[in-house]
Amino acid sequence: MKCRICRAKASVNLRQHNMALCKEHFLEWMPAQTARFIKKYGMFTPEEKILVAVSGGKDSLSLWDILVRLGYQADGLYICLGIDEGIRYSSESQRLAEKFALERGLKLHVVDMQKEYKESIPSLTLKSNRSRGKDCSICGLVKRHEMNRIARDFGYAVLATGHNLDDEAAVLFGNTLNWAGEYLLRQSPVLEGRPGLVRKVKPLCRFYEREMLAYALLRGIEYIYDECPLSVGATSIYYKEMLNRLENDHPGTKLSFYLNFLKARKSGLFTDREEIQAELHPCPTCGQPTSAEGICSFCRIVTS
Ligand code: AMP
Ligand code: ZN
Ligand code: ZN
Repeated sequence: MKCRICRAKASVNLRQHNMALCKEHFLEWMPAQTARFIKKYGMFTPEEKILVAVSGGKDSLSLWDILVRLGYQADGLYICLGIDEGIRYSSESQRLAEKFALERGLKLHVVDMQKEYKESIPSLTLKSNRSRGKDCSICGLVKRHEMNRIARDFGYAVLATGHNLDDEAAVLFGNTLNWAGEYLLRQSPVLEGRPGLVRKVKPLCRFYEREMLAYALLRGIEYIYDECPLSVGATSIYYKEMLNRLENDHPGTKLSFYLNFLKARKSGLFTDREEIQAELHPCPTCGQPTSAEGICSFCRIVTS
């Protein structure tokens, strides 16, 4: 296989795009594509300050790398969730996020749930008496709350996460199985901000996980290889496996599943529901917008 651009030996085969690229041209292609998606979906401008949520994994660290290379003003945020499970998962992720920032002279905010709230994901799961499979939903809630808090407090215009196409297709698959209308309406490369809620963007949403893996490896980014040990058995992982089987037999399935969904929604598939937006009021405890009656779910679980 030869690089489509320079005819040198290819390093990455982009099957779904019917092309292969050498290392050098692949490392140019990824940021150029990202810049295209940022523009296409109107994610942010060069004047806006971006907060990149970094987990220490390949996607979010590569995202940070790409945004900085493209010349955006991007700081990082790492949330230490206190997950150990015998592999020091959180502290190792934190070390890698800090190393990445230090080596490039970038600013990284760190929120430590233990120091801030005297809680961790395992302690919150125990406290809320939820079953183990629910770890991920509590973790998602905590991350969303803290990402928004830091973005707001430090005046960032936008919050960027490292969700890739495999993540988005798996979420879409789950939401479609349940015909979860509200979620389908909101699943988007850009979620506009509302009073008290910062705009959220997913610049990597059109890249396959294997493209992100290739980018991190070829760029020499050191990242945590382990998946979160608490996510074992999560339905999202099961959906990813199913989609990988489809993709294997029919290359391009994941991308068309996701892009055709975006197209269908744009052309009005869910327009009836567009007016339905939950009423939000500020949580009396933390001040963040919530649709829950009284205090928000974060404060109910974490601080009460
Ligand atoms: P996940 O929820 O693990 O699928 O991660 C999705 C995205 O959320 C990642 O690409 C990151 O942008 C962000 N993220 C996940 N974990 C953390 C964390 N501990 N701190 C900051 N951001 C995170
Ligand atoms: Zn080349
Ligand atoms: Zn609250």
